[in-house]
Amino acid sequence: MAGEIWILAEHKEGKLKRVSFESLGQGLILAEKLKTECSVFLLGHEVEKLATELFHHGAKKVYCLENSHLKNYTSDGYAAALTNLINEKKPRLLIMGATFQGKDLAPKLSARLKAPLFVDCIELSLNDKEKLEATRPVYGGKAYMKVTGNDALPQIVSIRPNVMTPPGKDESLTGAVEEIPVELNSKDIRTIVKEFMLDAGTKLDLTEARVIVSGGRGMKGSENFKILEELADILGAAVGASRAAVDAGWRNHAAQVGQTGKTVTPELYIACGISGAVQHLAGMSTSKYIVAINKDPDANIFKVADYGIVGDLFEIVPLLSGEFKNLLNA
Ligand code: FAD
Repeated sequence: MAGEIWILAEHKEGKLKRVSFESLGQGLILAEKLKTECSVFLLGHEVEKLATELFHHGAKKVYCLENSHLKNYTSDGYAAALTNLINEKKPRLLIMGATFQGKDLAPKLSARLKAPLFVDCIELSLNDKEKLEATRPVYGGKAYMKVTGNDALPQIVSIRPNVMTPPGKDESLTGAVEEIPVELNSKDIRTIVKEFMLDAGTKLDLTEARVIVSGGRGMKGSENFKILEELADILGAAVGASRAAVDAGWRNHAAQVGQTGKTVTPELYIACGISGAVQHLAGMSTSKYIVAINKDPDANIFKVADYGIVGDLFEIVPLLSGEFKNLLNA
């Protein structure tokens, strides 16, 4: 295990997060170049069943650290479970998503292990001395910084979700699961998770959604987001927002897409009343299909849109909802 690449797979409500596959993709590429193994770590309670999906994406070895105290993520529980193991096995890299969980856990592990930390990376590579080179945005995304790793073992990396490509799926691929016993008791964990509450209006996690309907300043008020929620309900989509809509207090910051919000790569992104400022595009331009609705034919968003509708969103969005409802119920 020494010198291996470890991936920390993140999961919620019995499902792996997309960033787990993105981390795995990076781990597999780096492991091949370094001629080492890439193993995935699943922490939780009754999580072994998630290993199959990881195998289908190229993992060959999945280690399960199961304990009822790991049922819900807590930084105390995860750090306690991983610290000794890392100290003992000395992996080369530990890669996880720069999600709420990763942003909480990575610095804690880094401090405990005195390990170098590379946060919110958007590109990972190796230099000619086989040292890690991590690219990360700085100054709110105005510049990119390339950081080169040293020889320390391990080095901890968090990657920005929805930027790197996950490996393809092949259901014929299999691998091996190994249980690693974890000893934890309630006094090790100072946080008690009592309940999960979704933000009002957040039915789906933006970074995991296959379809996103987003609204900008053109929505003209928080109450008008109702028409986007209706369209989103019909399409099984999440509702996003531009920073202008968030700054106006119409939507929660969790819904913000862009450089200082979330990076998303859904199959379909429908931008309503969003002009297409560069900071917004930074968070959504890699969506597979972009549909823009804007009354200004010169709006910048049309430069990245696959389909553009010039017109008043207050007329068009309800029409779309009606059409999609008929189509999907047909
Ligand atoms: P506007 O630019 O005002 O556009 C509103 C659009 O709505 C217009 O194009 C208008 O034609 C259209 N419209 C109006 N009424 C209608 C109607 N009835 N029907 C159809 N169309 C209509 N922005 C982000 O989004 N995300 C970020 O993460 C982000 N980070 C930033 C970080 C920094 C450091 C800075 C400086 C800025 C950042 N911004 C970000 C802000 C960004 O520069 C823009 O100000 C913002 O994206 C504009 O939001 P908007 O498109 O909703 O509003």
